[in-house]
Amino acid sequence: LPVVAIVGRPNVGKSTIFNRVVGERISIVEDTPGVTRDRIYAHGDWVGHEFSIIDTGGIEIGDQPFVKQITAQAEIAIEEADVIIFMVNGKEGITNADENIAKILYRSNKPVVLAVNKIDNLESRADIYDFYSLGFGDPYAISGAHGIGLGDLLDQVIANFSEQQDDKEDDSIRFSLIGRPNVGKSSLVNAILGEERVIVSDVSGTTRDAINTKFVDNGQEFTMVDTAGLRKRGKVYENTERYSVMRAMKAIDNSNIALVVLNAEEGIREQDKRIAGYAHDAGKGVIILVNKWDTLKKTNSTQRDFEAAIRAEFQYLSYAPILFVSALTKQRLAKLPELIKTVYDNHGRRISSSSLNDVIMDAIAITPTPSIKGRKLRIYYATQVKTAPPTIVVFVNDVDLMHFSYVRYLENQIRKYYDFTGTPLKIIPRSRK
Ligand code: GDP
Repeated sequence: LPVVAIVGRPNVGKSTIFNRVVGERISIVEDTPGVTRDRIYAHGDWVGHEFSIIDTGGIEIGDQPFVKQITAQAEIAIEEADVIIFMVNGKEGITNADENIAKILYRSNKPVVLAVNKIDNLESRADIYDFYSLGFGDPYAISGAHGIGLGDLLDQVIANFSEQQDDKEDDSIRFSLIGRPNVGKSSLVNAILGEERVIVSDVSGTTRDAINTKFVDNGQEFTMVDTAGLRKRGKVYENTERYSVMRAMKAIDNSNIALVVLNAEEGIREQDKRIAGYAHDAGKGVIILVNKWDTLKKTNSTQRDFEAAIRAEFQYLSYAPILFVSALTKQRLAKLPELIKTVYDNHGRRISSSSLNDVIMDAIAITPTPSIKGRKLRIYYATQVKTAPPTIVVFVNDVDLMHFSYVRYLENQIRKYYDFTGTPLKIIPRSRK
């Protein structure tokens, strides 16, 4: 997906616009227990064009002074976005801070669309002409508060999306390594590639740029997505939590499979859970890699205990296989491509309706459908409507009678019959009259 970033100094109205663009999408997403939603990165669409949008204002960078903060936010926009919305406040005119941001944006080759916000009525539209002097062409007058002008702005943003639809149409399996800083993502990239194509070191600024890296294993092509995101150049924002979460979300978007990397040495942290939650929410295939497995002194229960901790902390990822690996010793890494391929196949698996309905009828025979207040749930028919992730619609007499625990039960039964290792399954009850 193309990425749109909103930049601008505080209080120009970035998050209002962000919320309007992603609007209902954020509020309708399903609840995943234990996953907090971040309102800095989300999906939007406009007249059939889908994109991701980042509110850079939401990325606070430690206790850096104000100027450093907005500089970093502008740099993030330049680095991450395909199109930048530069937002200013039409009521206040051009400030020094706006000019500073403009200077940073000039140096990028990214298209910039200038949005003049808080133009709440027609009379004040005349004021926007001053903003030509910022040097980004026509300013677009908008009112976040009233939702005026957004259409024209988004038309212009979309007009700037480049044609190149990347290389997503090939048969390559796309996967990404996600995780907090220092869990060993870059080291794993190197170890998987088996050669020093991406250079890793403790010293900042040494990892060479590489966006997507392809390799072939056993006749199957794989694309390691967004290895550029593993760069470490010591910028102020690169180790902030929200930045790494945002990077992870972007990489997940561009992948079929997300490898969630944990650090065996440090155990499971809150941030790990958040990052893993995004992979789950995005409906991608998920594999958990416990890296630095070489650092632990092991007894015969070390692996079992670690696995139990993962299962307890990442309950929503109960389908994800776990591999205990080491980028240092390359332990078990040879198995990884095959595992990715298996998860990919499962993620794209399509099962026939007749076979699926046999499974469901058996499930009902074992554990009959529940009743709520004297009304019994009836299941008529189930059918798989989509793959990647496999999505099954179950027609019932009344969706209100379909308790989530029964949905969970059906899911478990389905998983007993078909190999859906590594993929979430979506089960959507629907009322049929
Ligand atoms: P990233 O921020 O997730 O990309 O992490 P890096 O790949 O830069 O690794 C962070 C640090 O952990 C570096 O000092 C690596 O040498 C070290 N490291 C990475 N993987 C392993 C591993 O499997 N075992 C050990 N012992 N150290 C590792």
